[in-house]
Order: sequence, then structure tokens, then C-alpha cells
Amino acid sequence: MTEVTLDGITKRFGTETAIEDISLTVREGEVLSIVGPSGCGKSTTLRTIAGFEEPTEGRIHFDDRDVTDVRAEERNVGLVFQNYALFKNMTVLENVTFGPRMQGVPKEERRAKAMELLELVGIDDLADRDPSSLSGGQQQRVGLVRALAIEPEILLLDEPMTGLDAKLKKRLRREIGKLLTDIGVTTLYVTHDQTQAMAMADRVAVLNDGHIEQIGTPETVYEQPANQFVANFIGTSNLLPATANGSTVDLGFTTIEAGGLSPTNGEVTVVTRPDDFTLNGGPIEASVLDTFYIGGTVQMVVELPDENQISLNVSPKEVDVSDLEPGDRINLSLDASNVHVVN
Ligand code: ATP
Repeated sequence: MTEVTLDGITKRFGTETAIEDISLTVREGEVLSIVGPSGCGKSTTLRTIAGFEEPTEGRIHFDDRDVTDVRAEERNVGLVFQNYALFKNMTVLENVTFGPRMQGVPKEERRAKAMELLELVGIDDLADRDPSSLSGGQQQRVGLVRALAIEPEILLLDEPMTGLDAKLKKRLRREIGKLLTDIGVTTLYVTHDQTQAMAMADRVAVLNDGHIEQIGTPETVYEQPANQFVANFIGTSNLLPATANGSTVDLGFTTIEAGGLSPTNGEVTVVTRPDDFTLNGGPIEASVLDTFYIGGTVQMVVELPDENQISLNVSPKEVDVSDLEPGDRINLSLDASNVHVVN
């Protein structure tokens, strides 16, 4: 297993800076997701690791080998890119054995390995099929297996589930997650879908405008976002202005004790999540703006006395949405135990 280290990587295209001073380590066997909005530099980061782009500044190491100047085909990296299509004039099995054949792996050995991998993702019965006769999800799995067949030191996935329906994404997420854990290959996974990133990754790197805002476990970036950008990008958040006096935080409509957080003074932003509010006749008065029944949960948007709007999730068992109209007054309480303060 291989550790990947980026040390101060900057990539400029002419006057355009795609990524700036990116430093990170992907530990041996770890799955690191890179998430961020469109154009923030996710693909450029991955393409630089693959060797398709030469960094303008900085060095890349695989373990203690400096690979910055090593050609892409000599990096032993498995790639599953959105636009990296399967070979059309080959069967599924031929697609998967192509890489090992180039590496000089004997025929029987490469066939056995390919069949084993196809079986792991449940498509060994498709070995003799033509890729064009497969569904999108089946093709994605072949793409993944083809990348893994060369026994790469590092696996790079760029939006590998684009265009698949939600149900299939969920299933593949489980399957691919299990496969990566079983094989233990060091993986970088690029996606703009933060749910996918959180579900698949050991750690998540949040990118914005070419730089890293935060790297941490899914729990850390959700529960302790480093700043407003991360709080907004990871999960749904309600950002509320407040005044801090030590650990006492005055939100205007209520005062909370921000326990466990480093005390700050002055103007701060409080990050609350939709589940932190409960519709239970508590002390916070709000007026209903909208309700959405989405099966299992009712999402509500309400307005607080200071005119800030917040989202909250309520169980349909607690509230009958058909009873609530925009403009209705409700009373909430805020569970401050998960609430986080950012500057
Ligand atoms: P998306 O999620 O939309 O794929 P991304 O986060 O992967 O976006 P990149 O594709 O890495 O973002 O692009 C980062 C920035 O670099 C963008 O502003 C993009 O226009 C620019 N860029 C990327 N490749 C090139 C190139 N070959 N020439 C010029 N600019 C480029």
C-alpha cells in the first residue's frame, strides 16, 4: 500500500490558477474524498496525481518516491474517470484483462484475476458481453474492475457515478466501498456530491476556489466545520449571526451555552443543523414559511423573530403537515449540544 503526498501543489493554466498550494497526505489504504463546487479544482488535483497535468509548483510523492516528473503510464495508478470509456470492440473480460496483458501477466493468471474481480462486484456472468449491451451501472462496475485489475498502487476515481439513478448509486456506493476496504488500495475519490463523499470516505477534503478549506473525517467536517463555507457545503446548515461573550452565545431570540468550544468574544456565526431544532412548544417563536413532506420527514422552513430563516426536520408523527399553513406561529426549542460556532 502506498501513501500519496502533495506538497504545495499549484497548477496554473495561463493566467488561470486552477489549484493553489495544495498540501495533503492520503494515508496507506485510505479513501480520501475531494469535494467542492464546480470549478474548484477537484479534477485538476486528480489529473496532477495521475500525471496528466504537470504542476506549476510543488512536488508529489508516492511513499518516499518523488513522482512529480514521472510519466503517467509509469505511475501505476488506476483510473476511473467519467469520460474514460470502456473499449468498445472488446468484451467485458477483454476490457478487464487488457491492462494486465500490457503488463505481461500470463493469460491464465490475468483471466482468473479478472473473473475474481468481476465476481466481487457481482457481474462475472457478463464477462463475454459487449460493453455497449450493458446498463450504466454495469459499465461503471466494469470500469472500476478494469482499473483495479492492474493492481494499482493508487486508485483515482473522478465522479464515477455520474448519470446513475439514486437507487443504483446507493447500491454501488455500498459495493464499491466494500471492495475498496477489502482490497485496501489507497484511493482518491472526486465528487461534487457531498453525501456520496461522506458515505464512501475515511476522510473528506473540502476544496473551494483552488484551495483546501478543511480536511477531516466525515464526522469532523460535519460537526466541526472550520468555517462558513464548509458548514454550508457539507449538509444543510442554518447560519445564524450571534454575539459571543465567552462561552455564552446570544442569538437574539435565545441564549445558548456553547459548551466544549473555544470561547470567543464579539460577532460570531452559529452553525445549526435542521435536526437541532424541535417543534415542541419551546421558547423560540417562529412563523411557518413552507412545509415539504418528503416521506419519513417533514422539512420546514420557518422565520425567526429576527427575520432569519431556518430549515428544520420534523417527524410526520409529531406534526400533521396538513394542519400547518404559511404564517402559522409555532414554538421551537434549540438543542445547543451540537451547535458549533465559527468566526
Ligand atoms: P467540475 O466539478 O465542474 O468538474 P472541478 O472542481 O473538477 O470542476 P477543474 O476541472 O479542476 O474543476 O477546474 C478548475 C479550474 O481550472 C476551472 O476554473 C477550470 O476552468 C480551469 N481549468 C481546468 N483545466 C483547464 C485547462 N486545460 N485550461 C484552462 N483552464 C483549465
